[in-house]
Amino acid sequence: MATIHQMPDALANKIAAGEVVERPSSVVKELVENSIDAGSTWVKVELEEAGLSKIKIMDNGKGMSEEDSERAFLRHATSKITHENELFRVKTLGFRGEALASIAAVSRLTVKTSTGKEAGTKLYLEGGALKEKDKSDARQGTEITVDELFFNTPARLKYMKTIHTELGHITDVMNRMALSHPEVRFECYHNGKRLFQTTGRGDILQVISQIYGMSTAKKMIPIEAKTLDFTITGYIAKPEITRASRNYMSTIVNGRYIRNPAVNKAVLQGYHTLLPIGRYPLVVLQIEMDPYLVDVNVHPAKLEVRFSKEKELFDAVQEAVTSVFRKETLIPEVEQKP
Ligand code: ADP
Ligand code: MG
Repeated sequence: MATIHQMPDALANKIAAGEVVERPSSVVKELVENSIDAGSTWVKVELEEAGLSKIKIMDNGKGMSEEDSERAFLRHATSKITHENELFRVKTLGFRGEALASIAAVSRLTVKTSTGKEAGTKLYLEGGALKEKDKSDARQGTEITVDELFFNTPARLKYMKTIHTELGHITDVMNRMALSHPEVRFECYHNGKRLFQTTGRGDILQVISQIYGMSTAKKMIPIEAKTLDFTITGYIAKPEITRASRNYMSTIVNGRYIRNPAVNKAVLQGYHTLLPIGRYPLVVLQIEMDPYLVDVNVHPAKLEVRFSKEKELFDAVQEAVTSVFRKETLIPEVEQKP
């Protein structure tokens, strides 16, 4: 007698949610990424109790048709890739088709969406099950409200830290989004109070100023370099302002905020001996490369990536940073022996 059976979708989604939705900030990240992928120029985030009781994300993106709005909650359902070969040329932030199914599986979720061309749609799901469906008078764009996150996974809920800690994670996510998408206007509110806002004018230095403060922004030097494979732009701080952690070293690859030890190391080596021991610089590096050179399908949260030309990237970043300080004459030109 067979004892193996395929899980019902609802159970599979709940299990998958454990990976994708670690905490409220993961929900914020996934939903804001969807808003960006939908071409939004404005994204508003409203939170209650650090997102544990409510997360509401509004955007002015392309919206979804009635049919798509239901399909969006199916597992592995995506509009972003169709063929296997596209997996290596991903230009969107999402492509796994897992986020909405996972978030819906562990919350009470309401979506209102409209493409602006036809009447909008409103759906209400509970633990992933569709409970209500209606027409909605929404304008073009999408509004997703996640109530009572983890209401049906008590073990996960118990694992949540203080409001302060969870809010810190959300702030990190919003900062990363704003740095990687200066062309999008972000607004973020917590319990009715404004936490954060950017102008969406596309000026990264202005975003740096909005996040880290004007006096820090004034100490940033532009960086620009181009090699066969990589275009590096952004800002790096003068060595006089340093931080005690690497958290202020931001790397953005093709519009995606990532973490990569090799890139950080290259930056540090680029600073040469200008940094005190145990201190780290504040940098925002935007690296553009052929999507073929970077594998983003390493981890569900896509924060870690793999580069196929890591050594070349390392050299390019180090050289780009060093040349900034050479120009500032903080690092002398290496003498060429005849
Ligand atoms: P993925 O982003 O990997 O495609 P998601 O589960 O996050 O998977 O979303 C599923 C689909 O729902 C997306 O591919 C997109 O077509 C649609 N979608 C989600 N959020 C939005 C949004 N804010 N605006 C328009 N479409 C959206
Ligand atoms: Mg997504």
